[in-house]
Amino acid sequence: MTTKIIRLSKSCIGPEEVSAVSSVLNDEFLGMGPRVKVFEQALSNFFGVGVSCVSSGTAAVQLALQASSVGEGDEVLVPSLTYVATFQAITALGAIPVPCDVDESWLTLCPKSLNKSLTKKTKAVIPVYYSGGIHNIDEIINFSKENNLHYIADAAHAFGSSEKKELIGSGYGVSCFSFDGIKNITSGEGGCIVTQDKKILDRVNDLRLLGVMGDSSRRFSGERQWALEVKEQGWRYHMSDIMAAIGIEQLKKFNKLKEKRQALAKYYASLLINMGDKITFAAHDYDDVVPHIFVVRIKGMQNRENIRDKLKERGIQTGIHYYPNHRLEYFKGFLRFELPVTDKVYDELLTLPLHPDISFEDVKFIVDSLLEFIAG
Ligand SMILES: *Cc1c(COP(=O)(O)O)cnc(C)c1O
Repeated sequence: MTTKIIRLSKSCIGPEEVSAVSSVLNDEFLGMGPRVKVFEQALSNFFGVGVSCVSSGTAAVQLALQASSVGEGDEVLVPSLTYVATFQAITALGAIPVPCDVDESWLTLCPKSLNKSLTKKTKAVIPVYYSGGIHNIDEIINFSKENNLHYIADAAHAFGSSEKKELIGSGYGVSCFSFDGIKNITSGEGGCIVTQDKKILDRVNDLRLLGVMGDSSRRFSGERQWALEVKEQGWRYHMSDIMAAIGIEQLKKFNKLKEKRQALAKYYASLLINMGDKITFAAHDYDDVVPHIFVVRIKGMQNRENIRDKLKERGIQTGIHYYPNHRLEYFKGFLRFELPVTDKVYDELLTLPLHPDISFEDVKFIVDSLLEFIAG
């Protein structure tokens, strides 16, 4: 008997996406054109504010920073517990990522750590909506308002989530989403910047097309601009019509994808709630949060690799989100303070499989196996 593999995460693609991509190929117009415009409009309706689509979530963060005039030597407060993408987006602009600590409850940016890290050079704060939510959002927003900082959310995990009953992206600041293959919705690769601030969006629209002014609207009308003006460093970070075609179909089925993710996370939580403080997890309200990952913290775990190997033998893939950035060669020089919570929780983190194609029986099997292996 071959073991069934339960993947940690995966793209969930149906015939709709396949035929949408075929139709782009048949049209023989693959670049940024009418489909990107349609996807942007659909996202804009979804969020109720302006949207600019780009080639990745990383590009979204970088362009959101640049459009906010964050650059060379400016300091950006960011949790160390995030994907390297957030850090690389900052250093790409010559700005300085200042690694901050997280709050133990949801593993998101800790307001106390922000206060400690503030200097005259601080220009922006990037909270990461880890696993789909953000704790203390009001404190973090107030902190950035009081200190005149740009609030740029890395909301790569949080597409469709609400915080305090407000859809993430619709509210304060600039929010950056990722549509990479395994996120809550995908466009293959891709991402977007969402904000009420029209100036930021206009600047992003130029920056994503090598800084060529006004090029976005030309491409949407199927034209090409021959007389150009460029006033600053731009990047080739636009989205293609192939990507947008996938994204449009994913957005149409988002309610289904969302409900399944929420139901699976609720089921995980119901099975694990009796573990007391042996196994803990963020107490998200899964009627609001659309979880991208399901992370548990196993108190005092010393044999994580051993547990992961045993789970793997049963076909269960697991992950670790994330190896802290302040321990990486390229970023460790940016560390200003110890990050005791990040360092403590890192060894206890384990991410369990979560994606819309997992069944409730799978979740039961995963939890039973985990409990068996933890017991020894
Ligand atoms: C996925 C992800 C990103 C980057 O998105 P890409 O589309 O892969 O570039 C950034 N931050 C976090 C926390 C992510 O999970």
